[in-house]
Amino acid sequence: MDFALTPDQQAFRERVRAWLEANVPPEWTSLGSTEVPRAAAYELIRRWQGKLFEGGFIGVTWPREYGGQGLTFVEEMILHEEMALQKAPPILNILGVGMAGPTIIAYGTEEQKKRYPAKILSCEEIWCQGYSEPNSGSDLASLQTRAVKAGDHYVINGQKVWTSLAHVADWMMLLARTDPSAPRHKGLTYFLLDMHAPGVTVKPLKQITGDAEFNEVFFDNVRVHERQVLG
Ligand SMILES: Cc1cc2nc3c(=O)[nH]c(=O)nc-3n(C[C@H](O)[C@H](O)[C@H](O)COP(=O)(O)OP(=O)(O)OC[C@H]3O[C@@H](n4cnc5c(N)ncnc54)[C@H](O)[C@@H]3O)c2cc1C
Repeated sequence: MDFALTPDQQAFRERVRAWLEANVPPEWTSLGSTEVPRAAAYELIRRWQGKLFEGGFIGVTWPREYGGQGLTFVEEMILHEEMALQKAPPILNILGVGMAGPTIIAYGTEEQKKRYPAKILSCEEIWCQGYSEPNSGSDLASLQTRAVKAGDHYVINGQKVWTSLAHVADWMMLLARTDPSAPRHKGLTYFLLDMHAPGVTVKPLKQITGDAEFNEVFFDNVRVHERQVLG
């Protein structure tokens, strides 16, 4: 197997390298990740992700019509190699870019694909992952957060825990039980939940370091339109 880069891939590497040299924020390289206060780091890496989006260096493999670059995993790998070499900051919307966006592109309706992925990449909208519950970790099929159909809406009640970034998130990938009579690994529905909806309460969990990166999230009769079901 030939692992040599094609001329186009080599040109991509050079373009990435030059762009990073010009754009990695100097306050990040001089301070280093561990010395940036948590809140300041959020703002810095939020702006950084926006810059990556403007430069076309995020969502490399996502389709162009949904905000991506329509390239291959080779270009994605080149980008990550160059970012590591230049000690570039991480992105803020890690769960949106790593999980929500690819899931919406794979399974969402056309309306959902047009609405969400580009804002995930640009970091205009931050996503969190609402899977784990106080009594449901590795055994995710045991989750108890309930979504009950009421006309064209669902009404959500329950609780999530360890929800990274919920305190700054605009949207949540929410797994809730819609059919309690089905086998427990079925009867679950994936919602695109507005974190600013009435009835959503986020309580940060303070760590021994004083930081609060994870949260409890409570749902008290949260109404979600059926078009917010994935797919
Ligand atoms: C840094 C961090 C960030 C997180 N962020 C999020 C988030 O954003 N959203 C979210 O939904 N969750 C998040 N989580 C939660 C994480 O997904 C859960 O911790 C994970 O699902 C495990 O659940 P648990 O902690 O309840 O452990 P448990 O499921 O209770 O497991 C405890 C131990 O038992 C073992 N075990 C469990 N079942 C079995 C089995 N059948 N056989 C043998 N061994 C078993 C496990 O390996 C583990 O060692 C985060 C966790 C961490 C550490």
